[in-house]
Amino acid sequence: MSTTQSTRTLQRVIESIPTSDGAGVKLRRSLGQSQDARVDPFLMLDEFSADAAADYIAGFPAHPHRGFETVTYMLDGHMRHEDHLGNRGELKSGAVQWMSAGRGIIHSEMPQQDEGRMRGFQLWLNLPAREKMKAPAYRDIQPAEIPVLDLPGGGRAKVIAGTLVTGAERTPGPLQGLTTDPLYLDVELPAVATFVHPVNAGYNAFVYVFEGEVDIGPEDAARRLKTRHAGVLSSGDSIEVKAGAGGARFLLLAGRPLREPVAQYGPFVMNSREEIEQAIRDYRSGTLTRA
Ligand code: FE
Repeated sequence: MSTTQSTRTLQRVIESIPTSDGAGVKLRRSLGQSQDARVDPFLMLDEFSADAAADYIAGFPAHPHRGFETVTYMLDGHMRHEDHLGNRGELKSGAVQWMSAGRGIIHSEMPQQDEGRMRGFQLWLNLPAREKMKAPAYRDIQPAEIPVLDLPGGGRAKVIAGTLVTGAERTPGPLQGLTTDPLYLDVELPAVATFVHPVNAGYNAFVYVFEGEVDIGPEDAARRLKTRHAGVLSSGDSIEVKAGAGGARFLLLAGRPLREPVAQYGPFVMNSREEIEQAIRDYRSGTLTRA
C-alpha cells in the first residue's frame, strides 16, 4: 500500500472563448469548445456573465437533451426552467439546478428579468452507457441548502456537490449519489491565501478561475492560471491553489471518469454514431421523451 502524498499540478490550460448559445445568449465556453477540450466525465462548462439585457434576454427556448446531466449554478439573476414533464423551477441568485436528461427531456431556460446582471455557470456531466436511457430527473436546490464554510487559510467555500474537507471536518453538499461522484466547490480566496484540499486520486479534476488569478500546484512547481481559463490537473491526491495579489474566485471540479467513447451532436451525448442518429430520429418523430 502506498502512502505517498502527491499534489496535483497544472497540466493543461483551456482559455474560455466567447460564443453564444440558445437564442443568442452570450457566454464563455472553456470545456466543450472542441472535442478534445473535455475532462472525463465533464463535457462542457459555460460561464454566462452579462450586464446588458441584450446579451441574455433571448434565453434558451425549448430544446432537447439526451444522455447526460446538467448542473446550472446562478450567481446573479433569475431564470425560469420549464420542461415537458411539467417541472418548473425558478433559478435565482445562489441557487443550483440539477437535471438528468436521461433518454430525453425538452426544456426551456428563460430570463425572468429585463435589466441587471445575469451571471452563472452551466456544467455538462456525462452519464455512463447504462444510464443514458433512464428516465429524466430534475431537482432545484435553494441557496439555503448549499453550505458555505470559512476556510482555515482564509476565504470561504460553497459546497454544491461532493464533500468539503476542512481539517477533521467533512461538509457534504446537496448533490450526492451521482454515478460520477462529482466534487463541485465555489472557492473565494483573499489575496495570497492558499487553499489545500484532498481530491480522490482516481478522479479527473479541473479548476475554472472566474475572478482574479491563482497559482496551482506545490510551491516549487506552481503554475499561473488566469481569469476565465480552465486548468486541467495532473493526477494526485490533493490540490493546492494560491490566490494572486488581488484575491481570486474559482470553481473546483473533480469526478470519476467513465472511460467510454463519447459521440456528441449538439444537445445529444451518446456512445456511438448510431445512437446519435437514433436520438435525432426520435426527436424528429416526437418519441424522444416517450417512456
Ligand atoms: Fe438545455
